[in-house]
Amino acid sequence: MTNGSASDDEIHVGKPETSAVGLPGIAVSMRYALSEMGAARSAQTLLRINQADGFDCPSCAWADPAVRDRKHAEFCENGAKSVAWEATRKRTDAAFFAAHPVSFLREQSDHWLEANGRLTEPMYLAPDATHYVPVTWDDALKIVGAKLRSLDDPNRAVFYTSGRASNEAAFAYQLLARRLGTNNLPDCSNMCHESSGAALTETIGIGKGQVTLEDIAGEADLIVIVGQNPGTNHPRMLTSLEEAKKRGARIVAINPLPEAGLLRFKNPQKARGLAGHGTKLADRFLPVRVNGDLALFTGVNRVLLEREDAAPGTVLDREFIEGYTDGFEAAAAGWRAADWAEIERLSGLSRQQVEEFADDVIAAGSVIVCWAMGLTQHRNAVPTIREIMNFLFLRGNIGRPGAGPCPVRGHSNVQGDRTMGIWEKPPAAFLDALRAEFGFEPPREHGWDTVDSIRAMRDGKVDVFFALGGNFAAATPDSAVTAAALARCALTVHVSTKLNRSHLLHGREALILPCLGRTERDVRGGAEQFVTVEDSMSMVHASRGRLAPASPLLRSEVAIITGLGQEMFGPDIGWQAMGEDYSLIRTHIENVVPGFADYSARAGQPGGFMLPRPPHDSRTFRTPDGKAHFTVNEVSAVEVPPGHLLLQTIRSHDQFNTTVYGLDDRYRGIHGGRHVVLVSEDDLRELGFADGDLVDMVSVWSDGERRAPGFRLVSYPTPRGCAAAYFPEANVLVPLDSTAQASNTPTSKSVVIRLEPARP
Ligand code: SF4
Repeated sequence: MTNGSASDDEIHVGKPETSAVGLPGIAVSMRYALSEMGAARSAQTLLRINQADGFDCPSCAWADPAVRDRKHAEFCENGAKSVAWEATRKRTDAAFFAAHPVSFLREQSDHWLEANGRLTEPMYLAPDATHYVPVTWDDALKIVGAKLRSLDDPNRAVFYTSGRASNEAAFAYQLLARRLGTNNLPDCSNMCHESSGAALTETIGIGKGQVTLEDIAGEADLIVIVGQNPGTNHPRMLTSLEEAKKRGARIVAINPLPEAGLLRFKNPQKARGLAGHGTKLADRFLPVRVNGDLALFTGVNRVLLEREDAAPGTVLDREFIEGYTDGFEAAAAGWRAADWAEIERLSGLSRQQVEEFADDVIAAGSVIVCWAMGLTQHRNAVPTIREIMNFLFLRGNIGRPGAGPCPVRGHSNVQGDRTMGIWEKPPAAFLDALRAEFGFEPPREHGWDTVDSIRAMRDGKVDVFFALGGNFAAATPDSAVTAAALARCALTVHVSTKLNRSHLLHGREALILPCLGRTERDVRGGAEQFVTVEDSMSMVHASRGRLAPASPLLRSEVAIITGLGQEMFGPDIGWQAMGEDYSLIRTHIENVVPGFADYSARAGQPGGFMLPRPPHDSRTFRTPDGKAHFTVNEVSAVEVPPGHLLLQTIRSHDQFNTTVYGLDDRYRGIHGGRHVVLVSEDDLRELGFADGDLVDMVSVWSDGERRAPGFRLVSYPTPRGCAAAYFPEANVLVPLDSTAQASNTPTSKSVVIRLEPARP
């Protein structure tokens, strides 16, 4: 199996950039758009991204501004790349599949596979066949339906969801799985913000962020950005940060890499942004060691406590702590006992740096903490996020303007999918409501998340793997184990817009079911349909595509799922009607999911509507005792043996999740290839290597070693003992059993590795 890129000879490494966007951002956006879509189609699509009557960007989940504040171009470079990638004029049609056996396709890079363009019709791979061949929709759904009906236990099926699926598709999909009788509904959230959900649910009673765009841009005095690279992964966040800076807010960036998007922003919407030096973002940059965030936040919480002891009543928000929280004394005892030498060793930061960060916090009337996968994919991810909640509670930084936690979600509707019931551990109240609405008894036994699904497939416990979007084989850890696990399934089915690696690491039989993209018109039952999504800040709004579908044989995700429901269960709960009128699905959602009253009307109005968020709205905490919970989190970090490094996987700027748009990572100065590993100059010297050397990375785990061969070393400013390499190329190094406590999220940001000279 390969995740190939250009050969290492073609990689060119220059200086990392110190500012994000500016003219290069516009130039690259336009180059992608024009090459994939042409001029007319580019104009037709780009100006509809994130507009009130347009479609939701299929890329990240960053929130849209209020309708009155939206610009004509309400997208970023990566939004443009994502739309160009989807609305391309290239096609991966039946002739393509006839010309290329699966064995050939499997050897191509992820970039090459998707660059061939949009899928055009359902394709089927028979047992032992060498090529995918066309199949009608009727036959495709019959193959899936027959296989699912033949299972002697519904738990021998797994239904995976990627974060692009709309609310309507997600709700219909979980209904299908539960009507069959299983809660095996893993999703991409299991691999990204599951740790955030676990920590937030425990501490404030809801697993979602508690700030709005207005809190960030217009209210916060201090914005702390931890383990997040907004310049590449959520670029329009930079506009909100710039607005915050202009009115005097401070920004503290905490990250092992000095990402350009944390340092300076050249706003492409403003002449000054294009021509001048742009806006300085981070006032303070703390180059924390990989996995050192828990130690850092323990340290700053200790300092806040000590400052309060020295001047009682001046630092902590006693009114909030006493009126709204529980567990302060136990947490305080933990901070008093924390050892500074250990905090400094594990965080890689000095006590003075931590004290200076505390100065910023005490000077700020309101504080927001934003984070992403730099925090969530570690063994101690949940304790780390709990400690950040402690940090916010100490000064009452929740439930008032400009304050609160902001986990920044990755894929555009990953938060909405969970709201719709895509969860292997559904709450009893959700299942009760489902039973009342549809009249069948849903399964109560918890299902498998992503890691447990791979284990189950590996162990021969799964016959049917069905994926609604995504690229499961590339997104998941332990690539070789996952590939072997998929191969043990009797049938693998993928609903997709483009060819990807998951279609090539298949079960005994396989189907590719091609679907509409967000940019495309969706006509069902003789009428144009819209779908809805929920962003990172709990806003729900409509998305309407306008382009003609890439092929007349494409179907929407909703149509595919409801068609399968009809095929399997007949007319029992109105599958066909739901597939022809999505407002019927929204009516069911109104009746099952709290907060969706009058759904179709409110979603259809410009800008949509905000779901209730009790901690943000009224300092109401739906924990068992109604309090926000301080927690005790023992200082810890992954211990790295001598001669080893702690590797984090990262995305390049030419990439969104598993989609690789190109081979450059402009902000980090890396061009023409992806097989690189970033290591500090001092570590290179100490380990006996030099910039430019070719190495194999070898990860160490209790069940043996894993090897990623042929990576070019790049000397890079990252803390001692740390390393970084691209996802998904480095996924092969992440052991399946290395997961976060309490969330089971793969520890893709802390993998112990050693470097060896590349094997010839
Ligand atoms: S910030 Fe995210 S949602 Fe907005 S245009 Fe860019 S990629 Fe799309």
